[in-house]
Amino acid sequence: MIETNALTSLPNRISFNEATNKALLQAGRNNTMLALLLIDMDHFQELKQAHGPTVTHGLLEELSKRFRALLRASDTLAHLENDEFALLLTDLEQTKLIGLVAEKLLKACAEPFKLNSEEVLLTASIGISTFPNDGQTLEELQKKVADALYQAKKQGGNNYQFTLPQMTLEAHHFMKLQAALREALNNNEFRMYYQPKLDLKTWGLSGVEALIRWEHPTYGLIDPLKFIPSAEETGLILQIGEWTLREACRASMAWQNKGYQPISVAVNLSPKQLYQPELIKIVKAVLNESALDPRYLDLEIAEMTVMDDTEKVNHILHGLKNLGVTLSVDDFGIGHTSISYLRDFPINTVKIDQSFIKSLPLDPKNAAITTAIITLAHQLGIKVVAEGVETMEQVKFLADQHCDQVQGYFISRPLPAAKIVAQMTRIK
Ligand code: C2E
Ligand code: MG
Ligand code: MG
Repeated sequence: MIETNALTSLPNRISFNEATNKALLQAGRNNTMLALLLIDMDHFQELKQAHGPTVTHGLLEELSKRFRALLRASDTLAHLENDEFALLLTDLEQTKLIGLVAEKLLKACAEPFKLNSEEVLLTASIGISTFPNDGQTLEELQKKVADALYQAKKQGGNNYQFTLPQMTLEAHHFMKLQAALREALNNNEFRMYYQPKLDLKTWGLSGVEALIRWEHPTYGLIDPLKFIPSAEETGLILQIGEWTLREACRASMAWQNKGYQPISVAVNLSPKQLYQPELIKIVKAVLNESALDPRYLDLEIAEMTVMDDTEKVNHILHGLKNLGVTLSVDDFGIGHTSISYLRDFPINTVKIDQSFIKSLPLDPKNAAITTAIITLAHQLGIKVVAEGVETMEQVKFLADQHCDQVQGYFISRPLPAAKIVAQMTRIK
């Protein structure tokens, strides 16, 4: 039976400690992370004196509801005593995401409370300790979390602190980046660049890959690897990804309308995008809006993603394929490749990762791998693009091995939409 706090019906300290001990055992076994958050209201005693216990009881009840509403079912929220709450987060991949939860809790406190026609304002302080970083046992984590809470109070309240200032800084930096990315979306600061792919049979342009850049008003052009992984962690990638898709399809249709020969435009899909339930609907809507023939849209999915949950991915890929688009496996060769999925998945192209191409043609091992990938793919009816091609020798080697297309600085760097047309053929 779970023992609860009489006021809020949340688990009490005894239940919380039990749950934490259980979770610690499991986290130790599975090598996963845990976070313990201690949440304490600021100036609660004064509030109690000013408004009386009826108001503060109502406030704690309302507060526990607000907290509960923003947590996952697997998170354990407890009401320890008075104005003190505790939260246990399990199965964490990144400590940075804890900051996100702490921020949400602080926001939930900051919304004014209306009690007995009185408006009450509240702030809280949060201490955070994590397993395994801060200790192995409940006692160690409790001691550290109390220290961290003390630091948060010392900062003046209304903030969260990890046990190490460095972790707090990282979390703040991460949150700032998220806010800046949201602003970038609203202010239209993202730009699409396009990198050509050269067909080794016709030596003509066979398509372009759309690559996002962030044109920051102060810092200038920012590379995707600096912000896409963070956007992926918080889910903001879904909005950025939809913008990317829309922008690439729009640009592609605009080139056609200007009289250039239609070419395929490739758009990268991140793991979260691939798994979002609305993906097919979004791609369909974007294609409709832009009036782009689906065969000119290629979706690139990284090999790592494809191998995540093969049955599910296969289902999604078939759904996309039914829209008439083509599919590529990006960064091929560096993941845990299982050759059978090349046979089973509806894939048109594999893009050999640049790490194999870099040392060609001299490195005999990478040459052997590249040749083997080309042969295997061709026998399965799949086309091959080599990425990161930087020298003429590499182009020659790849052409000799019958690689279908090459992409890389040797052909061209990624260029803004207006500049890429110089490489296109006019047919009208
Ligand atoms: P990717 O899809 O594998 O894209 C290829 C990357 O290699 C690009 O980096 C490109 O500029 C770079 N590259 C091309 N040719 C060469 C070369 O000859 N030498 C070298 N050293 N590099 C070359 P970029 O634009 O910085 O993008 C990095 C990654 O960020 C992409 O890897 C992709 O995974 C991701 N990304 C870019 N745009 C988007 C986007 O719109 N959505 C999503 N989800 N991911 C994106
Ligand atoms: Mg790509
Ligand atoms: Mg790639």
